Amino acid sequence: MTGTMRAVVKTAPAPGSIELRTVPIPQIGPREILVRVKAAAVCGTDVHIRHWNAWAQARMHPPVVIGHEFSGEVVEIGSEVHTVKVGDRVSSESHIPCNNCQICHEGSRHVCPHTKCIGVHQDGCFAEYIAIPEEIAFVYNDEALPWEQLALMEPLGVSVHGMTDVPLAAKSVAIIGAGPLGQMGILVAKLTGAARIIVLEPSPERAKIAKDLGADAVIDPIGEDPIAAVRRLTDGFGPHVAVDFSGSVAGLTAAMQYLRPEGQLTCVALPDKPISVSISDFGYRGCSIRGIAGRRMYENWEEMRGLLARGLDLSPIVTHVLPLEEFERGLDMTERGECAKCILIP
Ligand SMILES: [Zn+2]
Ligand SMILES: [Zn+2]
Repeated sequence: MTGTMRAVVKTAPAPGSIELRTVPIPQIGPREILVRVKAAAVCGTDVHIRHWNAWAQARMHPPVVIGHEFSGEVVEIGSEVHTVKVGDRVSSESHIPCNNCQICHEGSRHVCPHTKCIGVHQDGCFAEYIAIPEEIAFVYNDEALPWEQLALMEPLGVSVHGMTDVPLAAKSVAIIGAGPLGQMGILVAKLTGAARIIVLEPSPERAKIAKDLGADAVIDPIGEDPIAAVRRLTDGFGPHVAVDFSGSVAGLTAAMQYLRPEGQLTCVALPDKPISVSISDFGYRGCSIRGIAGRRMYENWEEMRGLLARGLDLSPIVTHVLPLEEFERGLDMTERGECAKCILIP
C-alpha cells in the first residue's frame, strides 16, 4: 500500500521529542503483514521513552514510531505469508526474536539476546498502519472480543507468563501491586483456580479495584505490617507463590520473608534499585526466585486463547479510550497511574 499516515514519532534522542507526524505507510517484506491499527494501548515503556531513560537510550535510534501494544485488521500480506490472511483480526507479540541463535534454537525465543522490539528498535503501532513479521501476529477472529481488549494481549501475556509459571490451582498467591498487570493477574489467578488471592497495594483506589476484580483480601503494606498480615491470612505459613508486579524494594523484601517454605517469588516488574537479601534465610526455607521476561512464544499465547475462551473479561482494565491525537494525555495519565490501561484510537 502506498500513501501517508498519521503516526506518533519519537523524533530525537532527547527527553520529550514526541510528535504527531505524517509519515509514509510502511512497506512490507515477503514474510510481513500490514495491519490497519484499530486500537493501541499506552504502556509504562512509552513513558520511559518519553523521558529518554537509560533503557531507551541504549536501544532507540530516533526517528521511530512508538507504541507496541495493539490490535488491528490485516490489509496486506507478503508473498511468503501463509498463516495470516487479509481481513484477519490480529494482536501481536512485541518482541521479534532472531530465530537463529542457540537460545532461540533451545526454544527460549522470549529471552533471545538479539530480540528487536516494535516501537523501540523499529517502527511501532501509535500509527494508522504497522508492518510486522507474520510470525508475531496473534490471530483472534472472534468479534466478541472488542478491539480495545484485543490490543491488550501483549501486556496480558506478561501477566499470564508470571501467573502461570507455578500452577496456581488450589494454591495461595500473593500479588504485589495492583496496577494494570497486577489487575490482570487477579483475573488470571481466579480463572486458573487459585485457592486464595491476597493483594498488596497501598493505593486506596487500586485496592478497591483489586477487591472488585475478585481478590480475597487486600493489604495496605504501608498501613500495616505486610509480613504479619500475609501470614495471618495463610494459616501462619505464607503463600505458595508471590508474584511481584510493583518493582518495589520493600514489597520484594517483605515477600522473601513471608513466602511459604518451598515457595516461589516470581518477579515480573523490574526494580530500578539493587535489593539486599539474606540468602541463608531464603535458601534454608527452600524458596526460589524466578524472573519473568516477555511472553513464552508461543505457550503463553495459547494460554491467553484458553483464558479468553473461558471468559476472561478485560473490560475493567480498559479505563480510558482517546483519539491518537491525545497521546500526550494518555502518556500523562499512565505516568501518574490515573488509568489502568489507556487506549488510543488512530
Ligand atoms: Zn508494554
Ligand atoms: Zn535468537
